[in-house]
Amino acid sequence: MALLQLSEPGQSTAPHQHRLAVGIDLGTTNSLVATVRSGEAATLPDSQGHHSVPSVVRYSKDRICVGHAAAEHSITDPKNTIVSVKRFMGRGVDDLQVLGKKLPYDFVATDSAVPRIHTAHGDVSATEVSSEILKYMKARAVSALGDELMGAVITVPAYFDDAQRQATKDAARLADINVLRLLNEPTAAAVAYGLDSGQEGVIAIYDLGGGTFDISILRLNKGVFEVLATGGDSALGGDDFDHKIAEWILQQAGVDAATTELDASTVRLLMQQARAAKEALSSVEQVEINVSNTSLNWQGSLSRAQMNDLLDALIKQTILACRRTLRDADVVIENIQQVVMVGGSTRVLRVREKVAEFFACEPLVSIDPDKVVAVGAALQADVLAGNKPGEEMLLLDIIPLSLGLETMGGLVEKIIHRNTPIPVAKAQDFTTYKDGQTAMAIHVVQGERDLVTDCRSLARFDLCGFPPHVAGAARIRVTFQIDADGLLMVSAREQNSGVEASVDVRPSYGLSDNEIETMLRDSMAHAEDDMQTRSLREQQVEGERVLAALDAALTADGKTLLSADERATIDVARAELINMNSKDDADAIKAAIKQVEASCEAFVARRMNSSIKQAMRGHSIDEYATHHEE
Ligand code: ADP
Ligand code: MG
Repeated sequence: MALLQLSEPGQSTAPHQHRLAVGIDLGTTNSLVATVRSGEAATLPDSQGHHSVPSVVRYSKDRICVGHAAAEHSITDPKNTIVSVKRFMGRGVDDLQVLGKKLPYDFVATDSAVPRIHTAHGDVSATEVSSEILKYMKARAVSALGDELMGAVITVPAYFDDAQRQATKDAARLADINVLRLLNEPTAAAVAYGLDSGQEGVIAIYDLGGGTFDISILRLNKGVFEVLATGGDSALGGDDFDHKIAEWILQQAGVDAATTELDASTVRLLMQQARAAKEALSSVEQVEINVSNTSLNWQGSLSRAQMNDLLDALIKQTILACRRTLRDADVVIENIQQVVMVGGSTRVLRVREKVAEFFACEPLVSIDPDKVVAVGAALQADVLAGNKPGEEMLLLDIIPLSLGLETMGGLVEKIIHRNTPIPVAKAQDFTTYKDGQTAMAIHVVQGERDLVTDCRSLARFDLCGFPPHVAGAARIRVTFQIDADGLLMVSAREQNSGVEASVDVRPSYGLSDNEIETMLRDSMAHAEDDMQTRSLREQQVEGERVLAALDAALTADGKTLLSADERATIDVARAELINMNSKDDADAIKAAIKQVEASCEAFVARRMNSSIKQAMRGHSIDEYATHHEE
């Protein structure tokens, strides 16, 4: 999947008007909001100085609360306190049946595909829960900045599919936030470090949050970020670090976790202490831990070295995921120019060490890893809001999706590939498929997939009235031209006769970024399928061509040049090819074509002979006649 840093045209404003736009990192564990003030992007704190807002919403009978106040109830009131709602975004009832087994929530059976959670405040969907978090972030921005919000850039994981992105947009709409752009989290982190204006190359974004680990490999080319691969583990994060430490504490306290049932408040205390110890060990060598209540009582200390031993196996899992993802991206470690650290858990020094060791370079950590995504989103929001005139058009100068033509078998022949800078003109020659063809339908499509049905149709026109040729002899040159405004003109010309036709099309009209991203994601997800489908369609077209040629030959010479036996053999091979051509096995079609060719070998030779003979006969008769007359 690829993310394109494109700007909507017509969004620039007069330079003196500063428009209030924010970046929102809508995280699984924590959310943040940031904005650019006096040229500096910074996250906005609440009155107590907290920048991160726990992504937790509690629904009580008469009120909804968000953030720290809600998080305090996650253990005492789990059914009404929704945590990690991001995991359910854009998910259907079926997906949740898998996820839901381990969750404390009461899911409500609904007629619609969107699952709802039953709470004291009524039934709520993931989109609604998310919108409460967004409303909270918006309120923080408005109270800190004292102005109406013009719009927001909201970040989403690079792997989010269309439904998940759409659900995020819907949540923003419910919160009455104008979405300037959904930005991929790793891209936002890269933007925060200014890598978008730096040198071209491949970068890795290592994002270890509270409950998820994401590794993304991006390629930066001419200001455009392309996501080469994403990987990670959706069930690995700082919470697992906390669990390891909590287990260790129980062990030290002589409590057998397997047999002892701890009450909710003890679990909460234990987890809080474990987390506090972990976070403290990011800056000190040793911490004192004190867990004491009526059912558990332990005091002791934990050193950083001891914690490292507890966490190493988990950290190793993230490194293995990095290795896999590099392989998926077809990139070797030496190609990685920068590694960006994202997520609160990358503050754990051991994590930084292991990442540096694996990538053989010092990762970028100068921007607070909790805030880096929100900061990047804020920078992008500032540009999109039109506060930086001149910058917003910069990245428009490429075509976001490939443009091509439909060819036989419903396949797409790409003429201009995506990310090609504009203006550009490219031409390609095509030919006719049938004898005597005097017209050709031209179908212009946009997209990365191999089949026309999976791409977007842009325009159709006919090139008519060129003189008939035998199949394959006409030369039709199709030219695609895109001007600096992104307008496409397609023209076709039959080279022998000079017959021409053309049409103007607007290639990106009506396609949102989202649709573009979806199309790109699909093309990556289906690359393998598409290759198979393409080779199948190509074989089917070839099969049809062979059958048409065979039938023409049989009609012309089948009776005179073939014995009954020979004819029977050919008919068997022909029937087999017809049969195979209707199925979906390219190799079988290929084999059937071979079989037809083999069965026809003698027939083809005889036809050739007879046509040569005929030609010579005609010739010699003429010559003979002429000779006679002389
Ligand atoms: P998410 O992207 O999932 O919303 P964050 O990036 O906010 O999550 O990361 C939250 C995680 O970061 C929590 O597990 C938290 O304990 C951990 N974390 C925060 N600060 C520190 C620190 N100083 N040292 C170690 N871990 C930390
Ligand atoms: Mg995050």
